[in-house]
Amino acid sequence: MAQFPARDVSLIGSLFGWLRRPLVPLDPVLWREVRGSTALLRTLDETGDASLQALTSLFLQRKIITPVAGLELDAYARMQLAALCCLPLLGVGADGLQGWSQLLVYPDAFRVRRSHVDAAGVLHEYEDELIGESWDSGPLILSWADVQADLADPHAGFCVAIHEMAHKLDALDGAMDGTPPLPRRWQSEWAADFQREYDGFCKQVDAGRDTAIDPYASESPEEFFAVASEYHFSAPHVLQVELPRVAAHLQRFYSAGAA
Ligand SMILES: [Zn+2]
Repeated sequence: MAQFPARDVSLIGSLFGWLRRPLVPLDPVLWREVRGSTALLRTLDETGDASLQALTSLFLQRKIITPVAGLELDAYARMQLAALCCLPLLGVGADGLQGWSQLLVYPDAFRVRRSHVDAAGVLHEYEDELIGESWDSGPLILSWADVQADLADPHAGFCVAIHEMAHKLDALDGAMDGTPPLPRRWQSEWAADFQREYDGFCKQVDAGRDTAIDPYASESPEEFFAVASEYHFSAPHVLQVELPRVAAHLQRFYSAGAA
């Protein structure tokens, strides 16, 4: 059975050292436009806004954003993408940007080739259509059309940019397993609470019940964490009602100064 592991790994403690690094300030006019047109960013207070600007600036300096398949992204689009990707980093800080360098952006959903060997040793090859993908040390990949669809309906519980960034945070300790690096005590509470609510959620999905949370969350512990993260930002009340313990951990994890 899928498990949320309890490990002794912590990135928190080296937090906010990044604030001392020199940053190129964002164009203030462009930033106002991005914030004004992006509902998920509008609720930030002054401190949150300053932290998000610093992270966004760092993201734009450190990450190579590459539009592919004929897509073009102007400075506004790049800043908006960077800000969305950095929204889940307000608690963790710049450590959350470690381990990868490329953001690839497709105009729309994209196809990838998959293969797996079944229990009988037979190789199966097939194509999958994705709106986002993120490997532990590889590029983060997003569909621009789906990012825009999320922004147009910002409280529906979906945000592919946050979903993929949650996978990146999850992978920071070397294992994509639904548990990002945390101080030891918090880690064991997180593992126990996530396990309990994940098991309950999987039972509902397996029983064929309609769930308020996207049933894709039952795929695995890592998808449970990534989907719950989407709800934390875009439909937090749904998460609080459906998965209250998970909601409390995410509230702490994603808030500025999370340690
Ligand atoms: Zn995922």
